[in-house]
Amino acid sequence: MSIPIHEYDAVVVGAGLAGLAAARELKHAGKSVVVLTKLHPLRSHSGAAQGGINASFAKDDSTELHEFDTVKGSDYLADQDAVEFMCETAPELVRWMEKMGAVFSRNEDGTIAQRPFGGQSHPRACFAKDRTGLTLLQTMFEQTNRLGVDFLDEWYVADIIYEEGIVKGVVAYDIKTSEPAIFNAKAVMFATGGYGRAFKINSNAHANTGDALSIVARHGLPLEDMEFVQFHPTGLAGTGILMSEAARGEGGKLINSEGERFMSKYAPSKMELGPRDLVSRSITQEVLEGRGVGPDKDAVYLDLTHLGEEKIMERLPELRDLAITFLGLDMVKEPIMIAATAHYSMGGVPVNIAGNVKKNATEHVKGFYAAGECACVSVHGANRLGANSVLEAPLFGRHVGRTMAKEIDNLELHKVDVSCADRMVAEIKMLLENSGSETIPGLRSELQASMTENAGVFRTEESLLKQKRLITEYRARYKNIRIDDKSNVYNTDLQEAIEFGHIIDYAAFIVEGALLRKESRGAHFRNDYDSRDDENFLKHTFAYMNEEGEIKTEYTDVTLGKFVPEARTY
Ligand SMILES: Cc1cc2nc3c(=O)[nH]c(=O)nc-3n(C[C@H](O)[C@H](O)[C@H](O)COP(=O)(O)OP(=O)(O)OC[C@H]3O[C@@H](n4cnc5c(N)ncnc54)[C@H](O)[C@@H]3O)c2cc1C
Repeated sequence: MSIPIHEYDAVVVGAGLAGLAAARELKHAGKSVVVLTKLHPLRSHSGAAQGGINASFAKDDSTELHEFDTVKGSDYLADQDAVEFMCETAPELVRWMEKMGAVFSRNEDGTIAQRPFGGQSHPRACFAKDRTGLTLLQTMFEQTNRLGVDFLDEWYVADIIYEEGIVKGVVAYDIKTSEPAIFNAKAVMFATGGYGRAFKINSNAHANTGDALSIVARHGLPLEDMEFVQFHPTGLAGTGILMSEAARGEGGKLINSEGERFMSKYAPSKMELGPRDLVSRSITQEVLEGRGVGPDKDAVYLDLTHLGEEKIMERLPELRDLAITFLGLDMVKEPIMIAATAHYSMGGVPVNIAGNVKKNATEHVKGFYAAGECACVSVHGANRLGANSVLEAPLFGRHVGRTMAKEIDNLELHKVDVSCADRMVAEIKMLLENSGSETIPGLRSELQASMTENAGVFRTEESLLKQKRLITEYRARYKNIRIDDKSNVYNTDLQEAIEFGHIIDYAAFIVEGALLRKESRGAHFRNDYDSRDDENFLKHTFAYMNEEGEIKTEYTDVTLGKFVPEARTY
């Protein structure tokens, strides 16, 4: 088969806020760059972000307070040098986006409006109604188009070309035609976003299948802190579709079946605006103790009726629409029903602040970079604060784009040949020709349900060991799958089969990390080890997978700084 080889200075995989910001910087610096994305850029999950982007503009706010809230929110697992860089750069980044055309909601006096979010000591989230991500994504897309960045959308990246410790490009295929191609580049960046689709109840787009994570892991490279999965407190009952934290920021109250505003028991000073991990556990606890609402008693009420129609339409119009469409409940007239939903992944491909992907705790891979939700730099540690990720993605994306533009001048284009595509071509052939008895939708829903049950908000040694066994079983059954669509045109069955292979791999990392971390920290809560253990676990997990899918872990130091770990109360 003749496979075209395209040459570029830089390949960026992913067209969310992180990828677009990097591509803009690379093009601006005069480098040739292509953005490969399996979705149209404007369908990237960044566009679903509702609530806001943090920056410490206000007179009585400060960078230091933003840093403190972030580090405390992270349960002291965040690397404080990275947090400092992010919080110091945030106000300038927001201004930068604004100058490029992003229209933020305003106060009467014309300043950018800011709303309170969980775990913050000051209202700090800048927003564009409840469509913040979409506003920023459209702005970045316009700017990259203006500069003439090449886009190949609906292209699926299936592998990196990693030889002699150097990343030399990527292997991809065109989803429209299934035609493969090789992209040979001096520098490759992964900006492939989050991966909440390992769970049944989740807030993530269907495309958030963590492809990059397992592509990296299958080459023996490490993944960091994968056990830390954030469960957002307010997903719509039954589906997990997100009701942004903005709902609580604007004054939403959480109420159980007894009419009690139960957060007074769990976070008396912050109430509903406690950090996400704490509020999610409180909701789940209420449900487990029989005070849930709804037909299956598996949700609680989120009451916004006191805000009135005018404010809801001004601040939360999108949320109102979603609740009417998916629950048939109008938040202007009645409380809606919510429960915790898998939302965000703190772990990912380990990188330093400049964005270089780490080969181990001390060395990095030449020519390979990452930013955004797929990366772990680690600014969120064990738990991310709301509105810090729409900040992280373009902030580090832009910074990494600038690093790449500089480093490219000293990087060579290592020529590659068509044999680099062998692995992808063989995988596609195997999936198309297999005629087993398992189907992807069947296997996937089993895996997702079991992850929610055994590796969700509350975890135990027993539940995690059970999940580990199940994953081994799913891995074996995956070899016996069948896809019915054998065509070359928009073969979504094929794509979903490849994606499911990735989900199995990274789910195994989540479970292994959670099993070995015998403590509770941030979003990772073990019923059998219910307190934080700084002596043994104030450490990042670095995990490596071998060819058999077995995972080995080691621990590396957290970069501490001016904030000394202390008890985390709200
Ligand atoms: C519903 C929702 C609401 C949120 N609200 C907020 C909020 O208000 N504030 C906040 O701070 N955070 C919020 N978040 C989190 C935040 O939006 C994300 O973490 C962030 O936008 C991720 O940006 P990204 O650029 O890393 O990835 P994404 O925007 O997810 O982009 C990923 C890109 O990678 C591409 N891609 C992936 N795999 C492949 C592949 N194999 N081949 C080719 N392309 C690939 C996709 O096509 C896509 O373009 C929210 C998340 C969700 C799910």
